[in-house]
Amino acid sequence: MATIIDGKSLAQKLKEEMKTEIAQMKQRGIFPKLVVILVGNNSASEVYVRNKHKSCLEVGIESEVINLPTETTQMELLELVERLNQDKTVHGILVQLPLPQQIDEKTVLRAILPQKDVDGFHPVNVGLLSIGDEGFAPATPSGIITMFREYGIEISGKNCVIIGRSNIVGKPMAALMLRNNATVTICHSKTDHLADYTRRADIVIVATGRRNTLTADMVKEGVVVIDVGMNRDEQGKLCGDVDFEAVKQKASFITPVPKGVGPMTITELLRNTILAAERQSRQ
Ligand code: NAP
Repeated sequence: MATIIDGKSLAQKLKEEMKTEIAQMKQRGIFPKLVVILVGNNSASEVYVRNKHKSCLEVGIESEVINLPTETTQMELLELVERLNQDKTVHGILVQLPLPQQIDEKTVLRAILPQKDVDGFHPVNVGLLSIGDEGFAPATPSGIITMFREYGIEISGKNCVIIGRSNIVGKPMAALMLRNNATVTICHSKTDHLADYTRRADIVIVATGRRNTLTADMVKEGVVVIDVGMNRDEQGKLCGDVDFEAVKQKASFITPVPKGVGPMTITELLRNTILAAERQSRQ
């Protein structure tokens, strides 16, 4: 029977540690600040932004949320980003996705200064991650690496299968696992015989947004399973991409949904904001 990785408690513990760290930074005259821009009134985005704001305040990071109307033009948004790029009191800038259709996401994400891009989506940060240099890695895969570290789960030399190849989860996850010396395979919707890959894996990370992508017959005994998915079941209850009840009988470690990967994502955003403030203070 698996150890259930408790992302919620771990995130709380890390936030407590950050509180102390930030108090010390403030004594050195560094006041980390994150600005989140929310365009329009997508209700899911509003919840995410509220949670980020609350978590910042909890640890002592100054947080400002800028709400812009749905009809905001790309030019108006770019001007705001540029103003924040120039503002020395702002260390991290995050544009909440998705954006309304008149605004090109790529153009906006590329306008954020890489050193303030705490989401790690700017091509410069993507490149730095891929060559193993200092930049910002996206929060969700970074949170998973932190989980492995905190639970003492060995990555080096392990056979890791990642299901999903998105720019925000699958691909950066692969880069981080490779950096930590895993042997990495990325699978996706065109992968033939998915189970042939997952059955050989020591670690399976699932990020498809499809319920029951990973079932018990697809894994070996002792596997470590990380479930990134966020779906709703027939009762409207939050669930992941893994058949949790069955897979946990075979796994050595497994993350639940909710209270698994999700809480760690915000913690890593806070971590990136602290890093951004430290780095900018040295410039
Ligand atoms: P995405 O952009 O939709 O990517 C999904 C990936 O899964 C794609 O690469 C797709 O393959 C692959 N895929 C879909 N169905 C598959 C199948 N049946 N077999 C194998 N591969 C399949 O999604 P995402 O943004 O990476 O997010 C994935 C999930 O994680 C979502 O449920 C999302 O809500 C959740 N998420 C959670 C957090 C968190 O903090 N907990 C953060 C981010 C995302 P193709 O490339 O071939 O289409």
